[in-house]
Amino acid sequence: MAETERYTEIREETATRIDEIFGQNVFNDNVMRQRLPKKTYRELRHVIDEGRSLDPVTADVIAHAMKEWAIEKGATHFTHWFQPLTGITAEKHDAFISHEDDEGRVMTEFSGRELVKGEADASSFPSGGTRSTFEARGYTTWDCSSPAFIKESGCGKILCIPTAFNSYTGDALDKKTPLLRSMDALSEQALRIVRLFGDNEAKRVNTSVGPEQEYFLIDEKLYKLRPDLMYSGRTLFGAPAPRGQEMEDHYYGVIRERVGEFMKDLNTELWKLGVTAKTQHNEVAPAQHELAPIYETANIAVDHNQLVMETMKRVAVHHGMRCLLHEKPYAGVNGSGKHNNWSLSTDKGVNLLDPGETPNQNVQFLLVLSCIIKAVDVHADLLRQSAADVGNDHRLGANEAPPAIMSVFLGEQLEDVVEQLITTGEATSVKQGEMLRTGASTIPDVEMDATDRNRTSPFAFTGNKFEFRSVGSADSIAAANTVLNAIVAEAFSDAANELEQASDFQMAVHDLIKKNLTEHQRIIFNGDGYSEAWLKEAQRRGLPNIPSMIEAAPALTTDKSISLFEKFGIFTKTELQTREEVVYETYAKTIHVEAVTMAEMASNQIIPACVKYATELAASVRELSGVGVDASTEKILLSDVTCRIEDMKRALDKLCADVQKSADTSDERSKAFFYKDTIIPDMASLRKPADELELIVDKRLWPFPTYGELMFEV
Ligand code: ADP
Ligand code: MG
Repeated sequence: MAETERYTEIREETATRIDEIFGQNVFNDNVMRQRLPKKTYRELRHVIDEGRSLDPVTADVIAHAMKEWAIEKGATHFTHWFQPLTGITAEKHDAFISHEDDEGRVMTEFSGRELVKGEADASSFPSGGTRSTFEARGYTTWDCSSPAFIKESGCGKILCIPTAFNSYTGDALDKKTPLLRSMDALSEQALRIVRLFGDNEAKRVNTSVGPEQEYFLIDEKLYKLRPDLMYSGRTLFGAPAPRGQEMEDHYYGVIRERVGEFMKDLNTELWKLGVTAKTQHNEVAPAQHELAPIYETANIAVDHNQLVMETMKRVAVHHGMRCLLHEKPYAGVNGSGKHNNWSLSTDKGVNLLDPGETPNQNVQFLLVLSCIIKAVDVHADLLRQSAADVGNDHRLGANEAPPAIMSVFLGEQLEDVVEQLITTGEATSVKQGEMLRTGASTIPDVEMDATDRNRTSPFAFTGNKFEFRSVGSADSIAAANTVLNAIVAEAFSDAANELEQASDFQMAVHDLIKKNLTEHQRIIFNGDGYSEAWLKEAQRRGLPNIPSMIEAAPALTTDKSISLFEKFGIFTKTELQTREEVVYETYAKTIHVEAVTMAEMASNQIIPACVKYATELAASVRELSGVGVDASTEKILLSDVTCRIEDMKRALDKLCADVQKSADTSDERSKAFFYKDTIIPDMASLRKPADELELIVDKRLWPFPTYGELMFEV
């Protein structure tokens, strides 16, 4: 090998060193320290750490440094990057140029004002009727707690500044503002708790979040042959493939070359953006995969999860594939979710959810645990709502995990401790993990966890965190974490109010733990969450079982919810009403697109193909009978096909008529329910004969790729 070639190879190898790539496109603490004058850096740290506001002079200095850094890296534009109620992100690019100087050279410009504040037309984003077009001003404001970054895409390199998005009147029109407010509320209340236990050092309690992202990949050529995938992100027709996930050979299976190449690029792109992409594996369904990052502060985790979803879609295209984030792309195999791992730690690094070796003696842990149990019980409806999105209706409460009934899984060890506390007020013993005896002399015996896993629980304690498993794969995790923070802040606040007044703290805290656990034990469930028995038992216990997104929406505006969110300054009543309204709008619009897509596929593709097949069959019947050959099988086939075409046509006409009718309803809530109760059943009636026809009609005539091709040709 020539010297130069070897050199190139080595250089390429060093260029992909993970520690060098990581964070290279992020204006992070390190970069700020290097590039900002000491005074400015210190000032900004105060702003970030203590939530102070930024003065205009400092903002100008930071903007200048940020611009210089971005331009050196090749960025041409900047954007305020925000998270409207659509659940995805929004951006509008502005180039770093202003008028030419005297010598005709273009000047680059980016001021502190542009960094801190932007204006966006709020009327074109979902606002639940609180904004009309004549009062359209909306503002984006820099969230300096989440670092700016450079996004590389077909547009080139864009400096993205994470921002909150508010209306002219100050209402939060986004998902970030309430999340930040909830983090502050939780921190304040959690500090009261740790102070009671003698921690006077901690200045803040942070919410840590690690979201595990599931997704499907599909070949782009096949994707483009399916209008349903293109317009609604899921298949609306499709008979089951001969092989699904029954062989259980995909989960953790060897990753196929093409998918591996995608994952390699995806990781690199994410690492550049400072996203700690850590774990990757195949998931249960064919062509389904997962990526998990390392947990981080909730706000950044939410931003990063948006980047993960966006980057997955972008990188897939470069590999001739598409990434499907929909919760249920295919009927009959597993859908995708997002496990939201959540914990609380002080700024000194103490995790309040770490039970230690002897949880029975860890009083602070037991108090925190009992408060969380209380929070989930009191606000089960809100927690359920926080994971509702249109696609997730196919999972929660439908044919798939986790159930729509909220419950808390503690595991054997903690359940035993809780049981002791409830019955005797004292937990004197603790079950410890045993040794796992492998029985093979060369494999060492290992210590097991004290607790097995439970995959069916929506809210499971897993070692030193809770795992909220209900969130949908396409959804933002902002709402789920906002609600978790809020409900736990309230339980902490109740506890602190009581304990701060207590004359005998030890006695009072034991009593409170026992009281919380006793009053809210109905929410604890360690069994099989999928079973029929649990449905009945949960009903007996009075736990809410809310089957759909739109039935979950009213939880936002109950007196209980308004009082909770207003008390902690997380949402105003108007902001909650806005969000409820947006649920109905989003639901109706999404199902509308699905319905119209189905109608089009049925009338322009499936029915014509089936008619063609019927015509061919009829010709065969004529020909065979003409020469005296028995054509009874062909006749049966022909009748099978024609009667299903007839069923399809009838269902199609009804669907179209009902879609027309939906226009008569102007009230968003009634419209949403009309889509759920009328249009969705219409869609099911149309799908059934179509899927049956797919199994009968000559493959050569079938107008789009089948499930088998979609899932196995990746
Ligand atoms: P599992 O075995 O359930 O997949 P992992 O340990 O792999 O659990 O973690 C899954 C996710 O949980 C990862 O994103 C991980 O960073 C995150 N995680 C781990 N510990 C914590 C914690 N204390 N708080 C929040 N998230 C955490
Ligand atoms: Mg997990």
